[in-house]
Amino acid sequence: MLHDFLARDFEQLVVCRDPGTGLESVIAVHDTTLGPALGGVRMRRYDDPEAAVRDAMNLAQAMTYKSAVAGLDLGGGKSVINAPADSASRDELLAAHGRFIGSLGGRYIPGADMGTGAADMDLLARYVPRVSSRRDPSRFTARGVLRALDAAVAWSGVGSRRVAVQGLGKVGTHLVELLRARGTEVVVTDLDPARVRRAIDAYGVEAVPVDEILSTDADVVCPCAAGGVLTEAAIDRLKARVVIPGANNVLAADADADLLVARGIVFVPDFVANAGGVIACEAEVKGTDEGINAKIDAIGTTTTAILEEASRRGTDVVTVATMLAERRLRERRSQRPYWQNAKSTIA
Ligand code: NAD
Repeated sequence: MLHDFLARDFEQLVVCRDPGTGLESVIAVHDTTLGPALGGVRMRRYDDPEAAVRDAMNLAQAMTYKSAVAGLDLGGGKSVINAPADSASRDELLAAHGRFIGSLGGRYIPGADMGTGAADMDLLARYVPRVSSRRDPSRFTARGVLRALDAAVAWSGVGSRRVAVQGLGKVGTHLVELLRARGTEVVVTDLDPARVRRAIDAYGVEAVPVDEILSTDADVVCPCAAGGVLTEAAIDRLKARVVIPGANNVLAADADADLLVARGIVFVPDFVANAGGVIACEAEVKGTDEGINAKIDAIGTTTTAILEEASRRGTDVVTVATMLAERRLRERRSQRPYWQNAKSTIA
């Protein structure tokens, strides 16, 4: 794990334990070149503590790239609470985690993520200088996903008559609403049958079983549930020609980006397509929504530029989007005074 931490240029990894409450958590600060590291607090059970560290690190790194590509003055971080199955008090765990975040003095700004919500951020705000997502960012995320979808469809010339949405949580439901409002045929699924029923009643969508959504007959697929769903087998079975993720880290392995290229499937990296949420969080932290829609709508322009560049270079879009993010980080580092930037000055 330490090797991974060093090899991937992480700034800080905090492994936290509070025997009083039973808290076990991890805070990963990947990079603060562009600003404080903003990212959600994920609360779930990990049977293997190393898996919790890996998850925090992967998600934190994606946040750095997400904010960099979206042009925000934010770095990338994430934290995870390994929630015990028999937790005595959820609030006590959160408060203990909040005290650890507070000890970082504002380098990491927490937000809501899987297993946490706006009310939890109110609680964390007692312990940390700044929190985000006290306002639910999901509708902004869905707006950005739609902009990425429109740009990818226009660029590829593929239709978007029928769109499949995996997951009817906060993002998936907002996306379904936007798609149905423009008359798109939508096919959905969710692990929770009640959510599927509500979507059928509210939006007149079609539903398929959970294990069929990624291979269903559709022009576009939007994974809006868990990460890691685009496995080699799932990519083999995709019928859609365009994949636009609302969820984070949807590729099961980095090499899967090449498989998508090989199958001629147009893919927009998650950290580009779902940046609407972090754009909304930045606005919240800054205390103004001025320019928020323009920033979210720019996800469309960025999508086109990345697809264009990937096609020109004959490479995959994740490589191109990562290069774009790293270029912005390099530029910012080169503008910093030398004492803040040891790497560039000590030869
Ligand atoms: P959520 O918890 O509200 O909803 C997730 C939904 O997916 C739930 O309804 C759940 O039952 C369903 N689900 C889980 N596994 C499934 C599966 N295998 N098949 C079908 N359905 C499944 O979460 P959310 O806020 O809507 O976020 C969805 C994803 O988008 C997450 O990966 C999250 O990290 C990512 N994301 C969210 C935001 C945001 O603004 N909320 C921003 C960026 C990224």
